[in-house]
Amino acid sequence: MPIPLVDLKAQYAALKTEIDAAMQRVVTNTSFILGKEVSEFEKNFAAFCHTQHCIGTDSGTAALHLALLLCDVKPGDEVITTTHTFIATAEVISVIGAKPVFVDIDPRTYNIDPTQIERAITPRTKALIPVHLYGQPAEMDPILDVARQHNLCVIEDAAQAHGAEYRGRRAGTMGDLACFSYYPGKNLGAYGDAGALVTNNTEFAERARMLRDHGRREKYTHQIVGYGYRLDALQAAILGAKLPHLDAWNARRRAIADYYTELFKNLDIVTPYVPAHITPVYHIYCIRVHSDNRDGLQKHLKACGIEAGIHYPIPLHLQPVYQNLGYQAGNLPHAEKAANEILSLPIYPEMTDAKVQQVVDAVKEFYR
Ligand SMILES: *Cc1c(COP(=O)(O)O)cnc(C)c1O
Repeated sequence: MPIPLVDLKAQYAALKTEIDAAMQRVVTNTSFILGKEVSEFEKNFAAFCHTQHCIGTDSGTAALHLALLLCDVKPGDEVITTTHTFIATAEVISVIGAKPVFVDIDPRTYNIDPTQIERAITPRTKALIPVHLYGQPAEMDPILDVARQHNLCVIEDAAQAHGAEYRGRRAGTMGDLACFSYYPGKNLGAYGDAGALVTNNTEFAERARMLRDHGRREKYTHQIVGYGYRLDALQAAILGAKLPHLDAWNARRRAIADYYTELFKNLDIVTPYVPAHITPVYHIYCIRVHSDNRDGLQKHLKACGIEAGIHYPIPLHLQPVYQNLGYQAGNLPHAEKAANEILSLPIYPEMTDAKVQQVVDAVKEFYR
């Protein structure tokens, strides 16, 4: 039996009754946009994150865009983020006409290196977007310290980190705002595009609700220029059916990750580094091998019917779209090196112990 990186079929099979009922409820009510399904889910997801407000959006990218607008990021401003992330994190900065400023990673955690943020700050810097990559929170205390000293807005990109914790605080509670994605393969996934913004700032929350829905509070009165960024009821109902299982799913991901890490101990593989004050949720289980071996290992796994991925093969500062920013190979060496050495192995809550063992055996076979 082949093993995919993520198996969404197994999750649907396990929750079919609840999910089918949720979808049927929306179709029967024919209340498809916003409404009770969305507000119920928002309330429950805010409770899950330990934040006061959750505003559903039609993607994580839309949530990031709104977050930058709320932080008053304008054309010509600069926003600091990590180079080792999905393009959406930086794309929204560019969409506003602001400039992404990329910082290198801590090579052990793959997250933004807090000690390199200060030197990237200029008088134009408005905000910081730390990303909790692979479901592991960025080193937030020093990041928040720098932000406070320089009066910068902090937006957590928590698209991969639903339920992860940093010193007992949940991802999404530490910055001024945080953005989540419910892209189907994320730890909490919709059946289409969906996302959310969470915050404890009531002013931000009220403005976000207007911005995502054409700048209005009432049907035909538009206060500000807004967007069509609403979360739809079908996605909210599906997410609502899944949410009660999320903590258990994350715990199962941790168990699988611990199992991998234990069994890879004697191989020439770097397994994830998790400081004691962090509880990750392993959206991705990323190992690191010699760059000479990486593609060979991926091919070997493929031949064994095991899918492995690379998150992400090209750091953002070297992407064709960002050539105009003037970065060159060698500028952010830790991220560049990691991009050639990382490999993501299958991990999803429904993955059986036997399948985990199958992956371990295939990896061991490659090194024999
Ligand atoms: C998935 C993801 C996004 C974008 O979310 P969408 O819902 O696909 O728009 C942003 N940042 C990171 C780190 C992601 O993994």
